[in-house]
Amino acid sequence: MKQNPLSGKMISIVAPVYNEEANIAVFVERVVEVTKKNYEAYELILINDGSKDSSLEKMLAIAADNKNVKIVNFARNFGHQSAISAGWDFAQGDAVITLDSDLQDQPELIPELVNKWTQGFQVVNAVRKTRKDGWLKRTTAKVFYKFLNSILTSKIPENVGDYRLLDKRVVDVLRQITERDRYIRGLTNWVGFRQAFVEFDRDKRIAGKTNYSIGKMFNLALNGIFSFSDFPRKLAHLAWLFSVFITMVLLVYATVLHYMGINTPGWTSQVFIMLCFSSIQLFLLAIVLEYVSRTYREVQARPLYVVADKVNFDKK
Ligand code: UDP
Ligand code: MG
Repeated sequence: MKQNPLSGKMISIVAPVYNEEANIAVFVERVVEVTKKNYEAYELILINDGSKDSSLEKMLAIAADNKNVKIVNFARNFGHQSAISAGWDFAQGDAVITLDSDLQDQPELIPELVNKWTQGFQVVNAVRKTRKDGWLKRTTAKVFYKFLNSILTSKIPENVGDYRLLDKRVVDVLRQITERDRYIRGLTNWVGFRQAFVEFDRDKRIAGKTNYSIGKMFNLALNGIFSFSDFPRKLAHLAWLFSVFITMVLLVYATVLHYMGINTPGWTSQVFIMLCFSSIQLFLLAIVLEYVSRTYREVQARPLYVVADKVNFDKK
C-alpha cells in the first residue's frame, strides 16, 4: 500500500484577527472541523492584532478548551501584513497556511491546498475566481493589479490575496526577510520555489465590516510599487527628460521670436515655465522623500510587531 504522504506531518494554520468578535467562534469551528479530521497534527495560530472588541476574550475561551488553538497577542494594532509575518515566525508545522479570520477565505479549501503541497509544490496560492466585495474594492483592485503588473519585473499573479500554503523551507526563507514596509503577496512570489494555484469563490464577510480603509489599501499599494518595482525612480527620469524636452522647445521658440523681432510681453510663458518646472521639482522631491523615509524605517530597525503575551505555546 502507498504510504500516506501526510503521515508524521504537522499543518499550521495562521489567521490574523482584528475586531472579529462576531466571526471568530465560527471561524475556529470551521477550521478545526477541516483540519482535525484530515491531519494527524495541526495547530491554529490566531494573531490578535490589537482588537478593540471582545475578540481576545472569545479567543481565550476557545484556547482554554482546545490546546491546538494558540494565541499570539500583539501589544497594539500592527496591521494585517505584520500579523501574517508573526504567524510565520511562530508556526512550527511542515506547511503553513495563512487565511483571513472573517471567513471570506473559506477554510474548506485547505485540503486542496495541502493536496498540491503533497504533489511537490512549495507555494500554493488560493486564487479568487469570483469575489463578493463591493464595486469600489473590486474596481480599485483590478486597476491596481493591471498597473502594478505593467511596471513589475516579476509579475504578481492577479486575484491572489494572502490565502496560501507555504512549505516550511519557504517560511524559513521568509523569516530571514526583515523589510518593514511589506507586501506579502510580492514577497511570496519573489522567493520563487514551485508555485501552484487553486481557484475558489471568495465569500462575503459573515459579520462586521472591512478593516481595510481606502488609506490602508493605498499604503499597501505603495508598498507593492516601491518594494517590487523601479517605477518611481524611472518616473523621476522620465520627468527629467520631459523637462529637458520642454526647455529645448521653448528655447527654439524664444530664439525664433527674437530673430523675427517680435516683442512678446513674456509674462504668460514665464508663469507657465515657472509652474511647470516647480511642479516637476516638487514631484521629484516627493519620490526622493518616499525612498528616504523607507530607508529611514529600515535603519531604525524596529521590530515588525510587539508581542504582549502568548497562549498554548510550549515554553522554550
Ligand atoms: N486584520 C488585521 N489587522 C488589521 C486589519 C485587518 O489583522 O489592521 C485582519 C482581519 O481580522 C481579517 C484580515 O486581516 O482577518 C483581512 O482584513 P479585512 O477583512 O478587513 O480586509 P479585506 O478582506 O476587506 O481586504
Ligand atoms: Mg475580509
